[in-house]
Amino acid sequence: MSTLETIGIVGAGQMGGGIAHVAALAGYKVLLYDISGESIQKGMATISGNMARQVGAGKLDEALRQKALGRITAAPEMTDLAGADLVIEAATEDETIKRKIYAQLCPQLNPEAILATNTSSISITRLAAQTDRPERFIGIHFMNPVPVMKLVELVRGIATENSTFETAKNFVHSLEKTITVSEDFPAFIVNRILLPMINEAIYTLYEGVGTVEAIDTAMKLGANHPMGPLQLADFIGLDTCLSIMQVLHDGLSDSKYRPCPLLVKYVEAGWLGRKTGRGFYDYRGEHPVPTR
Ligand code: NAD
Repeated sequence: MSTLETIGIVGAGQMGGGIAHVAALAGYKVLLYDISGESIQKGMATISGNMARQVGAGKLDEALRQKALGRITAAPEMTDLAGADLVIEAATEDETIKRKIYAQLCPQLNPEAILATNTSSISITRLAAQTDRPERFIGIHFMNPVPVMKLVELVRGIATENSTFETAKNFVHSLEKTITVSEDFPAFIVNRILLPMINEAIYTLYEGVGTVEAIDTAMKLGANHPMGPLQLADFIGLDTCLSIMQVLHDGLSDSKYRPCPLLVKYVEAGWLGRKTGRGFYDYRGEHPVPTR
């Protein structure tokens, strides 16, 4: 454990739920907030199911699961986060949404509390400037799925104080994860490299070079990737993939980052990947089936 006791989480989706999961297992009290009570309940049910899967696989003891679940409390109002020592914002990858959250959230928080964002791509310095505490603001970028992935990127904004960085580092170590430090540039390290590859895979599909299956098989067996890039895009969420490409494109002003029009079309259709049941694959049946 670090010196922190209570972790507030904003956004109970794939990432917020995953962060709540690992923080509760590491012994922290967790307050889980989302835009609606229904989203919080859905997030809590997913955490419970994911922990049950770990128990089934012999990776977790049922008694520890129950203890960890007991440490997670629904926080239906932002004021419920007042007691948190660290709040991690893991809401939708949209700068306007994040900005609105900080405006509402900051007045509720303890002045000493650290505010972190799990953004995949947006400037930490710019987000920090929207808050009342740029010195105590930092990027703590977890990977998906949080309980499985070992890496966390730590990203300082221009004003982030050393004590904030040290607290974040100790927190991540207490979750038994490995840290890599990235400078504050669009999409940091992992997504700066990963997303252009995924976007290129979508162009490969768009230009008819290969089918969904051909592209994923090629990269699994030809480049030894554990997952094909289109399967991975569905897993990340196509809305998140598009947002990251837009941040790279806008932030670096280089046409090599232009989002593939086919990615835009899928997002416009609401086919966001696994989380909505359809993306490059259709997940509604027993097995995923390519959608083109
Ligand atoms: P998601 O769509 O699964 O979850 C987003 C959650 O934010 C939803 O539950 C939504 O209800 C909630 N939300 C939206 N507006 C809100 C508001 N105003 N107040 C509170 N909650 C609000 O998305 P995700 O994959 O969990 O991504 C969340 C963040 O994590 C994004 O910044 C994303 O870039 C980042 N991230 C995602 C991945 C990934 O692979 N998906 C990996 C690392 C980081």
